[in-house]
Formats: sequence, C-alpha cells, structure tokens
Amino acid sequence: MAHESVYDVIVIGSGPAGYTSALYAARANLKVIIIAGATPGGQLMLTGQVENFPGFPEGILGPELMERMKEQALKFGAEIVYDDAVDVDFNGHPYRVMTSGGEYLGYSIIIATGAASRWLGLESEKRLIGRGVSSCATCDAPLFKGAENVVIVGGGDSAIEYALFTANLVKKVTVIHRRDRLRASKIMQERAFSNPKITFVWNSIVTDILGEEKVQGVKVKNLLTGEETIIHCNAVFVAIGHKPSTEIFKNKIELDEEGYIITKDIVKTNIPGVFAAGDVHDKKYRQAITAAGLGCMAALEAIRYVEEIKLKAQRAQA
Ligand code: NAP
Repeated sequence: MAHESVYDVIVIGSGPAGYTSALYAARANLKVIIIAGATPGGQLMLTGQVENFPGFPEGILGPELMERMKEQALKFGAEIVYDDAVDVDFNGHPYRVMTSGGEYLGYSIIIATGAASRWLGLESEKRLIGRGVSSCATCDAPLFKGAENVVIVGGGDSAIEYALFTANLVKKVTVIHRRDRLRASKIMQERAFSNPKITFVWNSIVTDILGEEKVQGVKVKNLLTGEETIIHCNAVFVAIGHKPSTEIFKNKIELDEEGYIITKDIVKTNIPGVFAAGDVHDKKYRQAITAAGLGCMAALEAIRYVEEIKLKAQRAQA
C-alpha cells in the first residue's frame, strides 16, 4: 500500500537518536513518522538499570527509558509504525522508504538505525543478557561494584576500556582474548598491563556462560591446548565489536569500510536532506546520551532543510 501524503521527516530507527529526533521535529510542527522496526527501542532494550542518563538520579530501566522517549515523541504528534525499513530510494525527491508493509514519502530522512553489538552466539549468553551478561561495561559495571571477578571478552580498545573502567569498581577483572596479543592501542594496553587488578587469559574463547538466574562463571577453552577450565565471575562483558545497521543503505549513501555512515558537519550525509544520528555513524562515543544529542542535531538540520525547500516551492509558485 502506498501512502500518498508526504511526511516532512521520516525517522528510521527507534533508539535514543531516533526518538529524540522525532520529538524535536514533531515539536517544531513538522509531519513526522518513525519507522520504529519490528523490535523497537534499540540497544537500551537489552540493558538493565541505566544510571548514567541525566535526569534519573535513582536510575531507570533501559526499556522504560525508551518507552518514555517514545511517549514524548508521540505526544508532539509524531506517528509511529512498527515495521522494518527494507529499502530506500534517495534518487528522486521526496525520498521513499519502503517497509515490509508499505511505502512512505519524506522530504527529509533521519537515519537512526544504530549499531548492534556483536555477541558470542551462545545460548547461555542470550539467556543471561541483563542478568550479568552485557555488551556495555560503561553502562552496567557499576551494578557489580565490589564483585570478586568480572570477565571481559575481547582484545580491542572497547575491551580494554571496559577492563580499566571495571577495575575501578571490582576486586578483579579477567580479560579473555582469542589471540596472544591485543588489538587495542598501545597506550590502552600499557594501562591495562600495569593495572594489578587486571589479568589476561590468552589464546582462549568462552564456550559457555554458567548460571541460571545470574552469571556465576564462564567455561573457557584454550585454543592451543584444547584444555577447558571454569573461571568464576559475577558478570561477563562482551566487547568483540559492533556492526552498524546499514545494510539497506549500501550503495545508497556513503558508508565507510566498516559500514558506518560517513557524515560531514556532524550529521549530514552525502545526500541533501538525509541525516544520520547516533551509533549508525558515531563509532567512538556510543552512549545513549550522545545518540540523543545527535538525534537533536539531525532534527534541527532536518527542520531547516524542510523549511528551505518549502520556501523555495512557495517562491516558485508566486
Ligand atoms: P574491535 O577493535 O573490532 O575489536 C574487537 C575485538 O574482539 C578484537 O580483539 C577481536 O579479536 C575480538 N573478537 C572479534 N570477534 C570475536 C569473537 N567471535 N570471539 C572472540 N573475540 C572476538 O572493536 P572495539 O574494541 O569495539 O573497537 C571498535 C572501534 O572503536 C575501534 O576503532 C576502536 O579503536 C574504537 N574505540 C576506541 C576507544 C578509545 O579510543 N578509547 C574505545 C573504544 C573503541 P582479534 O583481535 O583477534 O581480531
């Protein structure tokens, strides 16, 4: 079914960047629709208590925070559709966004599809997400303050940043890495190696996460010897990289070699009127609050863009 009316702004994605951009654009009296996806809410839906989002001194559950952001966007008149965007057409104007159930036309598009953490792919990992398994130590390590041992999986900058951050809070941090050297930058490595609370388990992978209601340990396999051991721990932070959710934008807008959207002036893509906000282009900060901030910036740009094209159209008619 084709939707004949043209939206001022189509927001694709429903994490903090998506909802914030929809809120700003709708509050500016633009006609806005959020293509929220079949499983809306973004990465925060997988998080437990969020303690570092300003305005909630007592903390707030990730899913509740997202529900509130959605409510606030809808309050100002944004529409929402719970469907995945499956294709886009940025060749003509207005632009077109196709979902599995329909097609939407928009003068401006805000891409806020985010990025997904890579996971180990274990059944136990899935079961224990939010119960000690997390892909964000910055978000969740404070919940394990004073813990005996926390495991970090990975050898990149994120893993080491997580290890250093977590070591300030717990008694011991164990980094499990599949090779015998880290990928992380030298300075981060040096900091980690000189921290007495951080130990490394090299050439090893996690083959299972133990515990029913909460994490109690990990089963670890040494890839050189094949030996399996159990390491007791209270939490497991998986830091094996992220993957931006940009498959449908391949060959439609400029992406870098990892698939992140390339932007200039913070949120502008190479297509006029198409903006990117949040983890879909920010691979450095990746926080809910930075994504929300980028959503705000994208909306302000979209508002200006839509005003300009409407003004041009009026002048052309006059
Ligand atoms: P990354 O650099 O891609 O590192 C991912 C790590 O996970 C690698 O050590 C990799 O092992 C390991 N890994 C991948 N798949 C795995 C699997 N299936 N099982 C076990 N281990 C696996 O990702 P990142 O650390 O998230 O960093 C992403 C980008 O953000 C980088 O450019 C990084 O420099 C940047 N970043 C910067 C900072 C900072 O400057 N403070 C902080 C965070 C991130 P191998 O090494 O064997 O491939």
